[in-house]
Amino acid sequence: MNVAIDGPAGAGKSTVARKVAEQLGYIYIDTGAMYRAVTLAANRSGVNPDEPDRLGTLISGLDIRLEPGVNGQTVLLNGEDVTDEIRTREVTLRVSQVASHEVVRAKLVDLQRKLASAKGIVMDGRDIGTHVLPDAELKVFLTASVKTRALRRFQELKGDQQVPLMQLEQEIAERDRSDEQRVHAPLVRAKDAVVVDSTEMTIDQVVEVIIDLSRT
Ligand code: C5P
Repeated sequence: MNVAIDGPAGAGKSTVARKVAEQLGYIYIDTGAMYRAVTLAANRSGVNPDEPDRLGTLISGLDIRLEPGVNGQTVLLNGEDVTDEIRTREVTLRVSQVASHEVVRAKLVDLQRKLASAKGIVMDGRDIGTHVLPDAELKVFLTASVKTRALRRFQELKGDQQVPLMQLEQEIAERDRSDEQRVHAPLVRAKDAVVVDSTEMTIDQVVEVIIDLSRT
């Protein structure tokens, strides 16, 4: 069985998906990490997120791997461990724009489908149930209010990465807009996805709901 978990930024998808995978004995694949790795590479090479041609050239030279690591998943970009660096604000602020280009999506979707061909996968992202794995046996659309999602991000940010809560709320709303309105594979709920609103739920409660769904 494959499990697809989609939803907006900060809904808790990664943490939930990792725990669901652990409990089911499945492999977890964080597709957002792949878009982040491309964005990091673009930032480093001075490629602008609105230059699809240059992004296309850049991406053809990238080797992105996800490997099981101590805290879930290690992300390797051309062999370098970039697990922490892909979470910085410099990457977060640009990733949606990078992910809006077909040239970027085509390469990453291809990689994601190859990884999922093994079955026994929990994959999270924005277009997994609708586009990457339309035949996934279980599809979940995980959401929460913008306020709750911003607060969760606020509590995760440390030291010089800290920003005011209001600003995070605006950035999350902006990322939602960009993910929902893009032309290629916009963030929409798959018709056959179960909606789980985690606004009033703990991570463990959400995990329990998904594990129950996987058994029905
Ligand atoms: O899940 P995460 O917040 O790390 O994803 C970062 C960004 O990558 C999203 O805001 C979205 O723009 C993009 N993304 C995507 N399709 C996916 C996963 C992530 O467009 N399947």
